[in-house]
Amino acid sequence: MFFRIRLWRMERYRGRFAPSPTGPLHFGSLVAAVGSYLEAKTHGGEWLVRIEDLDPPRVVPGAIDEILRTLEACGMHWDGDLVRQSSRDDAYHAALHELKQRGLVYPCACSRREITDSAVSGIEGHVYPGTCRAGLPSGKTARALRLDTRGARIEFDDALQGRIRQNIETETGDFIVYRADRVFAYQLAVVIDDAEQGITDVVRGADLLDSTPRQIYLQRLLGRVTPRYAHLPLAVNAQGEKLSKQTLAPAIDPRRPVPQLAATLRFLGHEPPHDLGDHDVSSFWQWAHENWDVARVPRARTLPAPATRDW
Ligand code: GLU
Repeated sequence: MFFRIRLWRMERYRGRFAPSPTGPLHFGSLVAAVGSYLEAKTHGGEWLVRIEDLDPPRVVPGAIDEILRTLEACGMHWDGDLVRQSSRDDAYHAALHELKQRGLVYPCACSRREITDSAVSGIEGHVYPGTCRAGLPSGKTARALRLDTRGARIEFDDALQGRIRQNIETETGDFIVYRADRVFAYQLAVVIDDAEQGITDVVRGADLLDSTPRQIYLQRLLGRVTPRYAHLPLAVNAQGEKLSKQTLAPAIDPRRPVPQLAATLRFLGHEPPHDLGDHDVSSFWQWAHENWDVARVPRARTLPAPATRDW
């Protein structure tokens, strides 16, 4: 008689917050930070911070320090080393090389204008019609590398938004993974980073829900594990626009974080006591840890942000 002992590797929850340093944190980005932080901490997991400074012209000087100081003032301390995408080119090049070797990407010379003239609109701008798939037209130089998405259909279950289905080929088209100005596309970088950082759970705003099928497709092509996803409702202003620097969303004030943290919890379906805003950061987190329940988060893609006077 013999016993077969099977050992299960208990997977430890690992979440992340991945801000782009295009400006200071605002209510919308704080919602993603708080939601991902509480999910990680209430699962006894780790919470990593990754700075998505992939596209140098979009990086605002001083924004990285400002974001990190605000997180610290909010009492949100990240585990492990801070990762900056600007220092990860080698990893992205290796993935791109693999895609190239397998004939999955091709150079594209089309200008924005040429695409607009010949494409149908999809969920995110125009669907690339595949013009350069058969080779670059003679005399043209490449402006980007695109991923061939023929036959790419993805389905997944989002913990908050339910079952998501996307036909990538017809809804977004062959998408860019590398630009001629040597910038890797967000879609590729995020897949490589989430995999190499061992992220088990991605909790982020629902503005990225339409990107997730492209990320899952890349994970499958590159043999990376697909994390679980939960897309939180996106905070929008009175005009229905995403809060951002362009829509003049006010920055989170690190000198008085608790009322703003309490407002994010209310936005995420919780009912912190009204006087919680008068307490210090550690009492806030104590209440939040004891009461956080992802099942309370509204299952909506967008929700109006509270007026600043309600903080
Ligand atoms: N860097 C992205 C943003 O700030 C978030 C990316 C992600 O969470 O995957 O919108």
